[in-house]
Amino acid sequence: MVDISVSSFWRRPPAVDHLVIGIEIGGHGQRVVVADGSGRIHGQAHAPDGKADALTVVLTVQRLAEQACEQAGVPLRRIEAAGIAFGGPVDPQRGLTLLSHRAPGFEQFPLVALLEERLGLSAVLDNDARTAALGEAAFGAGRGCQNLVYVHLATGVGGGIVVDGRLLYGASNTAGEIGHMVVSTGGPLCSCGKPGHLEAFAAAPAIQARLRERLAESPHDPARGPLGRRPPTLRQIFQAASFSPVADEIVRETVQTLGLAIANLITVLNPEAVIIGGPVAEVGPLLMDPLQARVRQYAYPASLRSVRLTTAELGGDAIILGAVALALAHSGRV
Ligand SMILES: [Zn+2]
Repeated sequence: MVDISVSSFWRRPPAVDHLVIGIEIGGHGQRVVVADGSGRIHGQAHAPDGKADALTVVLTVQRLAEQACEQAGVPLRRIEAAGIAFGGPVDPQRGLTLLSHRAPGFEQFPLVALLEERLGLSAVLDNDARTAALGEAAFGAGRGCQNLVYVHLATGVGGGIVVDGRLLYGASNTAGEIGHMVVSTGGPLCSCGKPGHLEAFAAAPAIQARLRERLAESPHDPARGPLGRRPPTLRQIFQAASFSPVADEIVRETVQTLGLAIANLITVLNPEAVIIGGPVAEVGPLLMDPLQARVRQYAYPASLRSVRLTTAELGGDAIILGAVALALAHSGRV
């Protein structure tokens, strides 16, 4: 773990001659970039196997790092540090991954020590959602903000919180687990086993599963034809809300639960920005416009005046650029 002041990324001119490596390990496989202090990517490489076991991932990341360096035209020994974003729970202080829901071998796995040995440089680790929050704070929609909340809507729902310029970790590194906020007294069970959590309403697979179940119970809904044959995209579901009562109900439920969670975060944390990222956010105004209305309906008026609700700017690069930001902070280059 590194103590990071986010303002150091945008208050000083970027150190463009200092190169670091950003590493993303998640459901889409492994990605490695070589980037400079301004977040500009000079070389990158990707391997698509998201189910690879922990030791295989270490070897793959080493190979990808060599390829990314070759593309950037710099030897690995010129790289100052590596930042690792992992799609699952981690212990940043001890450099361990704690678990992966996709792949074996990540329980209490010393990812940082093994990659430091393989790459011959110093490394630092965090979970992917908190890393994406740092990416947006350093290089994206959160630039200039000392207080922000980042909500990552993907296969799961995660997040990262910056208060007074610093990322929040908490007593056991679970700060920012926005997906496990309670937004209903009942409803579907969350991946953690508890009822009524945001993730069971707003994660991409949860939205698709709820639509499938309700369509099965509604033989006359007009969305059964267009959305019933194969798993619909999130955009298709949000678009179908204009003509399908079932899709409309699912979208309303998603917006309502997300709106409650964000309103409470705004009230408690008083951020300057709430940034919505991840694949669900790519639906755009069909999600964001009704969400703005819900948040305005529920949040404490004095906190609401100073906050903007916006989509992420870095898209699919938020996590990897957050890993770059972690590495820059770790190497003392910001
Ligand atoms: Zn949960």
